[in-house]
Amino acid sequence: KAKADGRGCARRYDQSLDEALRQRKSLEQDLGRALERQQFEVHYQPIVDSATQQPTSYEALLRWRHPELGLVPPGSFIPVAEQSGAIAALGEWVLQQACSEAASWQSGESVAVNLSAMQFHDTLLFDKVASVLRRTGLAPARLELEITESVLLEASDLTLSTLRRLKAMGVRIAMDDFGTGYSSLSSMRSFPFDKIKIDRSFVKDLPGSSDARAIVELIVQLGRQLGMRTTAEGVETHEQAACLRAMSCSELQGYLFDRPAPIADLSSSNRPIIAEAKRA
Ligand code: C2E
Ligand code: MG
Ligand code: MG
Ligand code: MG
Repeated sequence: KAKADGRGCARRYDQSLDEALRQRKSLEQDLGRALERQQFEVHYQPIVDSATQQPTSYEALLRWRHPELGLVPPGSFIPVAEQSGAIAALGEWVLQQACSEAASWQSGESVAVNLSAMQFHDTLLFDKVASVLRRTGLAPARLELEITESVLLEASDLTLSTLRRLKAMGVRIAMDDFGTGYSSLSSMRSFPFDKIKIDRSFVKDLPGSSDARAIVELIVQLGRQLGMRTTAEGVETHEQAACLRAMSCSELQGYLFDRPAPIADLSSSNRPIIAEAKRA
């Protein structure tokens, strides 16, 4: 009987694995056509100065409006796009969208764009960023690129030279999700980041957990000593914001201020001033 059950289990497992593979395959196929079918949208989330509460920048967050599945979050399709190679074209599209949108913000805020580790395998990445800035007219200092530790884990000469050239042009580089990777502290020595983004997993336990308080305080101090600004991700409550402000964390980002949305849908106090469209 046990044996029969075991076989039944194995068969069910095979079926669900099969189903998962089929779903992934179809997601991958849909993804390959999604760009030309204009199914992607960029949403923006304000990042506010912790002292003034005024937005200093907006993070561009990609969304996929799938005809059957609805709005698919990036966590579900970015890994698929990285595996299929679709991330290359998608990454360029997001950069172009975000920079051209930001160029219309008269109030001068920056835009933060996430780059996948895969994009750093492209020898032309620097030129692509430079040409998007030229085309859109966005000042390099108003573009911030967010990378995770996975970019530095490989730490090829190409990656480091691309980062240095971007920084020399005036583009700012932020370390995203700090504290969750395998080599957090050593990555701080690999490259002079402009900003450290403190991962939400630490922020969510503030102010109650003394461990979380100690870790966040340490990261803020590390940032100060290294001349890097610090941004707390995932700030959801006033208590978290007050705690982070008391620690002198430079900037705050989270649902407390606004959820990611198309620029026009952000709350009015968080919207940039948009230049009137020029008439031909
Ligand atoms: P991330 O860069 O760390 O972005 C922050 C994520 O936290 C976003 O999730 C945002 O919606 C979410 N978030 C912000 N505030 C709060 C909060 O108060 N509470 C909670 N629970 N969550 C909050 P999202 O938009 O689902 O994006 C997930 C990840 O997907 C991003 O993490 C980033 O790694 C990746 N991603 C998004 N857009 C792009 C893109 O254009 N290119 C690449 N390569 N990756 C992207
Ligand atoms: Mg990010
Ligand atoms: Mg992050
Ligand atoms: Mg994150």
